[in-house]
Amino acid sequence: MNKRVYLDNAATTYVSSEVLAEMLPCFNAIYGNSNSLHSYGREASAIVDRARDRVAHAINAAKSNEIYFTSGGTEADNWAIKGIAHAYSNKGKHIITSAIEHHAVLDACHQLEEEGYEVTYIPVDKTGLVDLTELLRAIRKDTTLISIMAVNNEVGTIQNIKAIAKIAHDYGIIFHTDAVQAIGAIKLDVQDMEIDALTLSAHKIYGPKGVGCLYLKNGIRIENLISGGNQERGKRGGTVDVPAVAGFGKAVEIAVRDMTINQQKLRSERDYLLKNIQEKIDYVTVNGHPHQKINGILNISFDMVDNESLLMLLDMEGVAVSIGSACTSNSAEPSHVLKAMKLDDDIVKSSIRISFGKNTSRSDLDYVVEVLEKAVSQLRSISAVTKAGRK
Ligand code: PMP
Repeated sequence: MNKRVYLDNAATTYVSSEVLAEMLPCFNAIYGNSNSLHSYGREASAIVDRARDRVAHAINAAKSNEIYFTSGGTEADNWAIKGIAHAYSNKGKHIITSAIEHHAVLDACHQLEEEGYEVTYIPVDKTGLVDLTELLRAIRKDTTLISIMAVNNEVGTIQNIKAIAKIAHDYGIIFHTDAVQAIGAIKLDVQDMEIDALTLSAHKIYGPKGVGCLYLKNGIRIENLISGGNQERGKRGGTVDVPAVAGFGKAVEIAVRDMTINQQKLRSERDYLLKNIQEKIDYVTVNGHPHQKINGILNISFDMVDNESLLMLLDMEGVAVSIGSACTSNSAEPSHVLKAMKLDDDIVKSSIRISFGKNTSRSDLDYVVEVLEKAVSQLRSISAVTKAGRK
C-alpha cells in the first residue's frame, strides 16, 4: 500500500506530542500511587489534581471536585444514566433521551427498562435535531433524568443544549449530556448551559484511549460505581491511572485552547473536500444539519453505492473512513441515527462518515477525491439499480 489517509478522527485520534510529553514521565519518573501519603504519592496526586483542575476549567465547572475520572465516554455515560436513575428511583422511574444517542446511553437505558424503568426516546427531525415540542410532551411527574447528546457522532448535528437544560430544570429534572464529540468543537460552559452531568472522553481529542470523565454538579446524587477504595471521592474505587489522567487533562486543555484555529482548519478541510466531491461526482447528498453542526464530520451519501463496499474499496487504496460509528460498524444493522432522521433507505445504505483531523493535508484530500471518484463509478457501474430504473 502506498499512500494512507486517515479520515476517521471521530472514531479516534492519534496522541499528540504535547499530550504524550505530559504522559511519559508518569510511567517511570513519577510512578507513585496518587493515594499514598509519602512524597511519591504526593507527586502523583499533584498531577491528578492538575488534570482535574484543567478539565474543570475547560468546561467552567464551579469546583474541580465535580470531575470524576472514568475509563472513557462509555463508562461515564453508563454511570450517569444508571447511577442517577437509581439514586432518584424513589422520586420516579421515567427517563427521557433521544433516538440518536450513542449506544453507551441507549444500552444503559435498555438495561434500566429491564429493571422496570420507563424510557421515552425523543424523535429527531431530518437534520438530526431533537424535537423540543416532543420533549415537552414526554415530561411526566415521575421523570427524573433527561439525557441528550451535545453533538451527534455520526452526522455532527449540534443540539440546543441550553434550551433543553432549561426545559429540564423548569420541571425539576436532572440534565445529562454526552459531550464526547463536542469538546474542542463548540464552547462548553456547564454553569452557563445549566448542565448537571456531562460526559467526556480523551481519545477523540488527541489524548489516550481508555480515559475520560463524568462531570457531576455538586448536590446531584449518583450511585457509587466501583466499591473498594476512596478514589474519586469514594464513588469509583481503584488506583488512578496517572499517565492516562495526565494525558486527558492536557488533551482537554489543548482542545479548548486551540479551538478556534482547529475549527478553522477543519472547516476548510471539509469545505474543500465537499466542493471537490460535488464537482467530480454526481448524485451526492450531505446528511445532518445544514449549518448547526461541527466542522470535523461530513456524513455523505453516494446514490446507488453500497456503503460497505465503498468503505472496503477506499480502504484498499489506503483511505480510512467509516460507516456509522466505530462502536457499531461491525454490525450489519444500518445506522440507527440516519434511520431516526427518517432518511430514505437508499441514503442510509449509501452513507459514509468522513471525519477530519489536525494532520490532514490538501494533497491528502486531493488523493481522497481521486480514489472516491474511481470507487464510486466502479460501484455504480455494477449496481443493479440504475438511475433510470429508479426514477
Ligand atoms: N459518546 C459518543 C458521542 C462517542 O462518539 C463515543 C465514542 N465513539 C462514546 C460516547 C464512547 O466513548 P469511549 O470510546 O471513550 O468509551
